[in-house]
Amino acid sequence: MSTATPAPLRDADAPSGPSAVGDVVAGARAAQPWWEGLGFAGRKKALDAWRVLILRRADELVDVIRAETGKTADDARLEVVLVADHLRWAAAHAGSVLRRRRVPSGLLMFNQSATVEYRPLGVVGVIGPWNYPAFIPIGPVGAALAAGNTVVLKPSELTPGVGRWLADTLAEAVPGPAVLRIVTGGGETGAALCRAAVDKISFTGSSATGRRVMAACAENLTPVVIEGGGKDAMIVAADADLDAAADAAVWAAMSNAGQTCVGLERVYVVAGVADRFLRLVGDRAAALRVGDRPDADLGPVLLPRQIEVVRAHVQDAVARGARLVVGGAESFAPPHVAPIVLADVPEDSVALTEETFGPVLVVNRVASVDEAVDRANAGAYGLGGSVYTRDRSRGRAIAGRMRAGMVSVNAVIAFAGIPALPFGGVGDSGFGRVHGPDGLREFSRTQAVTTQRFRPVLQPNSFGRDPGTMRTLVRMVRTLYGR
Ligand code: NAD
Repeated sequence: MSTATPAPLRDADAPSGPSAVGDVVAGARAAQPWWEGLGFAGRKKALDAWRVLILRRADELVDVIRAETGKTADDARLEVVLVADHLRWAAAHAGSVLRRRRVPSGLLMFNQSATVEYRPLGVVGVIGPWNYPAFIPIGPVGAALAAGNTVVLKPSELTPGVGRWLADTLAEAVPGPAVLRIVTGGGETGAALCRAAVDKISFTGSSATGRRVMAACAENLTPVVIEGGGKDAMIVAADADLDAAADAAVWAAMSNAGQTCVGLERVYVVAGVADRFLRLVGDRAAALRVGDRPDADLGPVLLPRQIEVVRAHVQDAVARGARLVVGGAESFAPPHVAPIVLADVPEDSVALTEETFGPVLVVNRVASVDEAVDRANAGAYGLGGSVYTRDRSRGRAIAGRMRAGMVSVNAVIAFAGIPALPFGGVGDSGFGRVHGPDGLREFSRTQAVTTQRFRPVLQPNSFGRDPGTMRTLVRMVRTLYGR
């Protein structure tokens, strides 16, 4: 595989635009009973074959991702690794998580056996972002398929080739009706998918678009998962391993040129260690290589309008008294932005209240971990977070106080690499979960079934009940649960 950024694929023959959505959804609906009929074991075999093919062609997928996003080869390889791991997990665990199981029927309904199972919804629509065009969609796509649904994926208009590559390799690995279908296009195509009476929409993108997606889904009461933006914070306690924390902070803030939903945008470091931490962060950030060179650590910031957002956040912070530790106006050489580290940024400036989504890290000092928690929790977003302290149990306690869907202690973004963990946020970061058992259930409809094993001694659910039945029942409940 070459190290230079490959040329983008042409989006030749994928169905495209709002008018194509109906037929694509109809095709997915027609294929669904066949796919559901394969059962958990059959679907596992199919999804395993897909994963093996993906890994056999990993270099090709890396090239397609890079051609459309410009990200570095290592950033693209990381996506492929995560794709394989998450797909393996969903295929391997769908049966144990979703298949029918008995639950206790309780003393009052002892004559019934009770079961719960998670059935496929039907057709799931997945709307993806461009920044992790393989890894992010594979969460909902893998879980929905493993649960027995068929899927219509609308990849970002910036990354249609990655979506098509995924669908084509699945079709190649699994003969039969296509169970993952693609429709390409921009926001209008996404909106058409929301209105196409699919059985659920899984949306990943900005929180602003998430609001529009939810409004469109409301028209048909189509349920929706929203994986929105983030403004993740790291808390560095006085006893933290500062080298490890600085190394992790710079990677989490700058990898993928800062265009990561769970990328690090804010650090709250306790005052006593703040100067040393800032020096370590500054040295590391300043040493990163940027540009088209083969050994670059940071590729481009893909969207020109995002570069302007990044610039505006930095300018506003500096105008309001923030200190530039690394970079500044000279960091902007579109499409590239070199790392920028800011310190002492006012908490109400846009660099701290809105998603920057570029290679910018704000490091603010705080008097205590309590203050760090308060500041970390102050914003509208609540996606991921991290805590650095040598005391692991204290780290877990601090994590528990963070208003975030996912937190890593003494690591960054570790939760995204553990397929058994649910992924998702709170507040403006959205709701619902992909990955893990929660992710599998997200793309299922829960069905509760009772089966009468024998006639009950007391039968309250009948107009022909004995006049004493209710009195006896109330007495029983008082005896059992009244103290
Ligand atoms: P975006 O919101 O611009 O677009 C996301 C997708 O929505 C695209 O496929 C787009 O075509 C589609 N879309 C746009 N308008 C639509 C509409 N009206 N109806 C339906 N679909 C519509 O986001 P982006 O620039 O592709 O991605 C970056 C954003 O995604 C960042 O905010 C980032 O934090 C977020 N993100 C979140 C997660 C997560 O898991 N929470 C993961 C990756 C990215």
